Amino acid sequence: MMINLKKNRVFILDIFKTVLIPVLSGICFIIWLFFLFQYPILVFPSIFIVFTVMYIFSGNVFGGVLIAFAVSAGVFTIATTGTINKILLIIEILWIIFAFLEIEKYRQLWISEKIKLKVEHEVLDRDLTLIQSSITNNENKINAINQRMQIFQSFEQMINSIENTMNEKDLIKLLEALTKKFISKGKWNIKRHSSKDIFVNYSKFNKVPLLITNTEEDRRFTETDYKNISSLIVVPIEIENNYWGAIKGYCTDKKEFFDDYDLRLLSILASLIGLILNNAIMFKKVEALAITDGLTGLYTRSYFIERLQEEIERAKTNSIPITVAMIDIDYFKKVNDTYGHLAGDTFLKQLSNILRRRFRAVDVLSRYGGEEFAVLMYHTTINESYKILEEVRKMVEEEKFFMPIESYHPIQIKKTISIGIAELKDETNPDEIIKKADDALYTAKKQGRNQTCIYKEEQKQ
Ligand code: GH3
Ligand code: MG
Ligand code: MG
Repeated sequence: MMINLKKNRVFILDIFKTVLIPVLSGICFIIWLFFLFQYPILVFPSIFIVFTVMYIFSGNVFGGVLIAFAVSAGVFTIATTGTINKILLIIEILWIIFAFLEIEKYRQLWISEKIKLKVEHEVLDRDLTLIQSSITNNENKINAINQRMQIFQSFEQMINSIENTMNEKDLIKLLEALTKKFISKGKWNIKRHSSKDIFVNYSKFNKVPLLITNTEEDRRFTETDYKNISSLIVVPIEIENNYWGAIKGYCTDKKEFFDDYDLRLLSILASLIGLILNNAIMFKKVEALAITDGLTGLYTRSYFIERLQEEIERAKTNSIPITVAMIDIDYFKKVNDTYGHLAGDTFLKQLSNILRRRFRAVDVLSRYGGEEFAVLMYHTTINESYKILEEVRKMVEEEKFFMPIESYHPIQIKKTISIGIAELKDETNPDEIIKKADDALYTAKKQGRNQTCIYKEEQKQ
């Protein structure tokens, strides 16, 4: 009967137990006292029923007291009424005891059900808390994974840039930024061996990495050396077992400190940085030795400069006109951004073929930079070279460049180039005439691109 009580029902019963029972029992007790001597036979069973019901619901000492009242009422009635009444009352009392025992059975059952429900409730509550904490846990994990993904993406970008950066200065900047990604504390500098940095020199001469977790507790350097530095770390960088320089990190914020873990991580990074720098240095050496560019097959920048130097000298002694042209693709970045770097490379190859077709074998056609070309035209006046370069510009303008993308329908795009030309006057240094051609190229870009501009002397600053 009371089994499987629903939650809200239990709640109502609780109110009944705590508020209504004391009130009802008080009222019943007064009624019982009033009617006891008048109608004992009628009053007693009704009182008993009320008390018993209250006992079932209350299930505490209070219930026991109520039963005791009922029994004493019976005893009192037996003592004060006639024989038939006495027999009836004895039957009543026996019935009461029997009924009480029966009721008690159900009451116990109900109590155990209630306990069971309570336990189930607690278990459910605990499960819910566990589920909630595992949800929060998973959310945290997802956030951590997202953060790592972002870091990896920026690593990837950075590593791509490192691959494409062979200029030592830019490379150092990238490597400093990369270190900051790994050890997200303080500021980072990569310093050459010639550095006057006192900490770098200390590490160089003692041939050890330097870790000062808290500068306030270190006496090796003075307060003026530290300035505002609160924590410091220096690890030497070696290239092919020779000291090249060092990487130094420092914190000025007193809340940040480098520790042993950072030192271990930085030692690994320093050896990687050494390898990357060595790679760039080797590349530069190889590039300087190479005559032709690997991608386009055109002459390299170093060869172009070398030849230009020779041609300048020859032109001077023989009074031969020579011109230099700088060619730059317009908005080339867009090609890379839209079709990818590989497609960009394919574009450069196609463009080089067009250029190669138009220039003579005696002209020194080179890939001067990434997407910049330089041509040295021997025995050519500025007007002649202007004509040729205008033709080249129009050829490019009309060409459809094939873009290798993962599609059944290959894409063809159109592009333009800007050109700047300068004629050799009294320059003796290749850089000077290249600079003039570059200035003219800048004018061509400024004037709207897809045009050829001749360097004018009044352009000189
Ligand atoms: P504009 O010259 O008209 O001012 O615009 P641009 O977009 O061409 O700008 P800029 O000349 O400064 O851009 C050069 C770009 O060329 C940047 C670089 O991503 C790309 N680039 C340089 N070298 C290479 C290369 O070897 N391969 C590829 N695919 N892209 C290169
Ligand atoms: Mg450019
Ligand atoms: Mg460009």
